[in-house]
Amino acid sequence: MPHVIQRLLAQPGSYVAGRWRSCDSTQPLLNPATGAELAQVPTSAAHWLEEALVAAVAAQRLWRCEPPAMRADRLRRLAAALREHSQALAELVTQEQGKPCVESLAEVHYSADYFEWFAGEAERLYGRQVPAPTAEQAFLVLRQPLGVVACITPWNFPMAMLARKMAAALAAGNAVIAKPAYETPLSAMALMRLAEKVDFPPGLVNLVVGQDAQAIGARLCADSRIAKVSFTGSTATGRCLLAQSAQTLQRTAMELGGNAPFVVFADADLDKAVAGFYAAKFRNAGQACISANRLLLHRAIATEFLARLRALMQQRRLGNGLDPTVTQGPLINRRACERIASLVSAAQAAGAQVESFGHWATDTGFRQENFYRPQWVLGVRPEMRIFQEEIFGPVVSVCEFEHDDQAIALANQTPFGLAAYVYTESASRLWRLPGQLQVGMLGLNEHRLSHANAPFGGVKASGFGREGGAEGLDDYLAPQYLAWGF
Ligand code: ADP
Repeated sequence: MPHVIQRLLAQPGSYVAGRWRSCDSTQPLLNPATGAELAQVPTSAAHWLEEALVAAVAAQRLWRCEPPAMRADRLRRLAAALREHSQALAELVTQEQGKPCVESLAEVHYSADYFEWFAGEAERLYGRQVPAPTAEQAFLVLRQPLGVVACITPWNFPMAMLARKMAAALAAGNAVIAKPAYETPLSAMALMRLAEKVDFPPGLVNLVVGQDAQAIGARLCADSRIAKVSFTGSTATGRCLLAQSAQTLQRTAMELGGNAPFVVFADADLDKAVAGFYAAKFRNAGQACISANRLLLHRAIATEFLARLRALMQQRRLGNGLDPTVTQGPLINRRACERIASLVSAAQAAGAQVESFGHWATDTGFRQENFYRPQWVLGVRPEMRIFQEEIFGPVVSVCEFEHDDQAIALANQTPFGLAAYVYTESASRLWRLPGQLQVGMLGLNEHRLSHANAPFGGVKASGFGREGGAEGLDDYLAPQYLAWGF
C-alpha cells in the first residue's frame, strides 16, 4: 500500500487549512463485509469549521487569480496521482464501502476522468461579447467563480461523488469545504492526501469529518461565506439543506434520489437489453441513484427476458469485495438491508411474487447481516411502495405493459426524474420518447450514462444542477455583465 494511504489510515481526521486535525472523541469505522476495524474516525468537526471557512476564503482569493493553465495543471496532477495509486485506492474504497474491487477501480479512474475533463474546461472558460446598441459601447459577459463551495457527499461512491464536485469547483476558481458521509470518510481523506501531495495550496480544499451531519450542514448553510452548497444524497436531506440555505440565498445544486424505469419494448434487441439491465441494476449492488429501479417489460418478451435474466442472477456471488471472484459485496449496513426487506415483504403481502438468487463465495467471516441476496419481485403495481420508492439494493422490481402509452405513463408515474433507460429498435419511438419521459438523463439502447464530459442530473424531485460536461462548469460560475462606454 503506498505511503500516502498508510499515513491516512494511521491518522484519519479532518483536513483544514492544509493541516490534518483530529478530535478527542473517535469512533471505529468498520468494514461492512467483515466487520474489521479500518480506522478510528473523529466524531465531530465542529471545532474546525470556522478555521476551514477563513482558510478557504483566503485561498480562493489567490486561486481565482491563477491563470487557468496553472489551475488545469494542478487538476491534471491530481488525476495522475489517482491513476498512479489506483489499485491501493480501489482496495480502500472496497474496504470502507463494500463494492467489488474491480468496481472500485473503475470508480477511482472515473474520479480521475473528472479532474482531467475539468482541467480542460478550465482552459476553455470563455466569456462572451454581446453586440452593443451603439458604436460607443461594448458589452461583455465574464464568468466569475462563486467563492467557497460546500460539497456534501454520500457513501455509495465515496470518491467519485466528491471528485465530481471538487473538480468542477476548482476548475472554475472556487475553494472547497467538503463533508463526506460518515460511513465512508477514508476515500475522501485519500483524495485530500493526494491533493496535498500535488501541491494544492493550503486552505483551497478542506475536509470536515464528523458524525454531526446536521450541525455541520446547518452551520455551512447559515454562513454567507459559503457561496454554494452542492449536495448529493437523499431527497429528504436535500429539502432540509434547501430550507436552511434559503436564509443566506446560497446557490444550491441538488442531486437527489432517482427511480429509474428500464423499459424494454417488444422489438428490443434482447441480448443488449438483458446485458444492459443487468449492468444498470447490479452495479454497486443497486446502490446508485441511476440504478434501474423498475423493470417495465412488454408482455410479448417478458418471459424470454426473465429467463435470460434468471441465468445471470443465479451466477451472482456474494462476499468480500477484495475477493476477485465476488460480484456483489455487502450493502452499506444492516439498516439498508432491513429497509429493502420491508419493501419486498410489503409487495409480497400485496400479491407480488418473490424469488431469491445468487450464492455465497466460499470464504467465511462475513457480516451476513449486511448482505442482501439478489431477488426479483414479479407482478409489481404502481401503488406498491417498491414501485414508488428508490430500492437502492439488488432487487429487480418487474411490471408488464402492452401499449407504448402505458409504458410511458408507468415510467413517469413517480415524483423522481433522474434517469431512464429504453430499449427498442424503432427509430420513431427513439425519437419520440425523449420528449415524453420526464428525466434528466436517458439511455437509448445504452446503459452507461455517467461520463465526465456529459451533464449528470435530474428533474422533478431528483433535484437540479448538473455535474460533468460543459454544464458542470457553468454550475460553479456566475455570469458578470460589463457595459463599457467609450
Ligand atoms: P443516505 O440516506 O443515502 O445516507 P443522506 O442524504 O442521509 O443520504 O446523506 C448524504 C450526505 O448528507 C451524507 O454526507 C450525510 O452525512 C449528509 N447529511 C445527512 N443529513 C444531513 C443534514 N441534515 N445536513 C447536512 N448534511 C446531512
